[in-house]
Amino acid sequence: MANNELDAAGVVAMLTAAAEAIIAAEPELTDADRNLGDGDHGIGMSRGMTAAREKLAAGGIDSVEKAFTSVGMAMMSSMGGASGAVFGTFFRAGGKALAGRGALDGAGLADFVKAGTEGVMTRGGAKPGDKTMVDALAPAAEAAVAAKGKPLGEALADVAAAAAAGRDASEGMVATMGRAKTLGEKSVGHPDAGACSVAIIFRAMADHAAG
Ligand code: ADP
Ligand code: MG
Repeated sequence: MANNELDAAGVVAMLTAAAEAIIAAEPELTDADRNLGDGDHGIGMSRGMTAAREKLAAGGIDSVEKAFTSVGMAMMSSMGGASGAVFGTFFRAGGKALAGRGALDGAGLADFVKAGTEGVMTRGGAKPGDKTMVDALAPAAEAAVAAKGKPLGEALADVAAAAAAGRDASEGMVATMGRAKTLGEKSVGHPDAGACSVAIIFRAMADHAAG
């Protein structure tokens, strides 16, 4: 049965699973960024999630807010570059929306994904359709809000499916932000690398909550 909610230790375990999934996907993320950017996204994400995994394993994480913000801080301080700032912002801004919550449920997930997505859009300036990670995050946030009354495991399954659909939709978009912008129409036919990472993170979270 899918999990109804997770306490701080449960969120630490779920985020550790997401970090492992990104580390395992490094070659695939490298290829995705090679098609549209400079090919460093896999290495950067893997470095950020290795730092996040260490922080999660170090102990002392006593709230769901801190579990998410710790991942964001580890990514920001270890990755650098555009994606360090935007992925770090996602987990930090999303985590702050969970202040005071003792557990993560469907409603908390909606607050997390919505606030994290808004944080990324404010920080990076990308809108839906610009062919960035926002194209996976925005549909994920919509799905999370629609699923906020569901048990966490079911809500996460909806969010993961929406993020994957958003990643797939980014294939058909023309890049207007970041390094891929210089490719113009030639950027069509490949998914955005950051959107691929977002889809992997939510898939791993959903699988963990379901398992
Ligand atoms: P860099 O662009 O510095 O080489 P990465 O290759 O690690 O960094 O990450 C590229 C990804 O970061 C893009 O695929 C995109 O999803 C995301 N990204 C870059 N700039 C922005 C932005 N301003 N807003 C949202 N996401 C962005
Ligand atoms: Mg890159």
